[in-house]
This record gives sequence, C-alpha cells and structure tokens, in this order.
Amino acid sequence: MSLLTPYVASRTTEHPVRESELTIEFALNGPRIAYRSPRPTDRDHHGNLWVRMQESTGGRVRYECMHVQRQRACMEGMLCQICGGPADRNEQGWLFLDWRRPDSPPSWPEKSITSMPPLCNEHARVSVRQCPFLRTADHAVLRVRKPQLYGVSGAVYQLTDTGWRTFDNDVLAPYGKPRLPGMLASRVHRELRGVTVVGLP
Ligand SMILES: [Zn+2]
Repeated sequence: MSLLTPYVASRTTEHPVRESELTIEFALNGPRIAYRSPRPTDRDHHGNLWVRMQESTGGRVRYECMHVQRQRACMEGMLCQICGGPADRNEQGWLFLDWRRPDSPPSWPEKSITSMPPLCNEHARVSVRQCPFLRTADHAVLRVRKPQLYGVSGAVYQLTDTGWRTFDNDVLAPYGKPRLPGMLASRVHRELRGVTVVGLP
C-alpha cells in the first residue's frame, strides 16, 4: 500500500522566509515585526504577521512538518488535511482526530486546543491505519460541534542590537489576548468544544 501525500505536509523544496527579510514597522500602537517588502496577505485579521513559505511540487514530502499556508487554509476553511476537500460534518459535528498531549486540559478531549486540521471520512480511516504515531498514542476519533478558532502559534522575536532574534519558536497566542508585536505565526489553532468520542466512520 503506498502512502498518501497529505495536502498539509510540506516538501523539502518549500522553504520558509529568511530572517534577513524581516524589519521593524512603527505602527500606531508601537513597533512590530514586518517584512521589508510588505504584501497585503502578510497579516491576518488580528494583525499577526505570518511566515511566508514557498509553494513547490518538487523534493520529498516532509510528513512531520506542515506547510504554513496549507495548514492555515485547512484550519480556517475546515478542509480535510489529507485531500484538501471539505471535512466531514454530521449532526454530531465535524470529524477530527486528536491525541492527549502533556499540556492537554484535564477535560480532554473536550476543550483540547489543536493545530491538526479536520478530516473527511475516507481520510480519517486512512490516517488511523497509516500513521504509526496514532497507533501508539492515546488518540480518539471525535465529532466536534463547535471547533472554535482559538489563536495562532509561532516564533516570537525580540528586537536586539543586531536585529530580530527569536528565543522561543512555539508560543501560543490566543486571539482573545493582546497581540504579540514580535509574533511570526505559522499555525492556526482551534479549541474543540462540544466533543463526542466516536468510532471510525
Ligand atoms: Zn480527505
């Protein structure tokens, strides 16, 4: 059986932006990270600056690393992470796979905060069969009534004498909190609310 190429997976030829492309912008409420050559699509509605990542069909698939813009498209548009088509939804809600992480809430899977996009029926079955991690982890197939957009995560840069430097590459920034001026976002997260654990469809 050949492995599917997940729509969200990045490729070895798709490189993220270089730090030399970043600059400081003096916005109304203070300095913030920006690109030297700004584009209208650089920021989301909340003002977070997003990693620019090349799109390529060459190279090898990096199964362990999601493409920034494709992850965002899947999460915001509720698209299947494997095929990029609509994720499945029934009267119990949207179809997700989730697993318990060290920072999961005690109520897990209720209120789990995840960056893994939803799935269609077919690809939920394929994912459980093909992903070695899912077979060993404490995972669950879920129907989620309210997968609410929660926030972004990414590297937080601080301004130093020699330019922007990052000291933490994985900071979660909820939309409900003040925006971090040094955030370079690379993931959208949803909070899973109204969760029912179900069998594989
Ligand atoms: Zn699919």
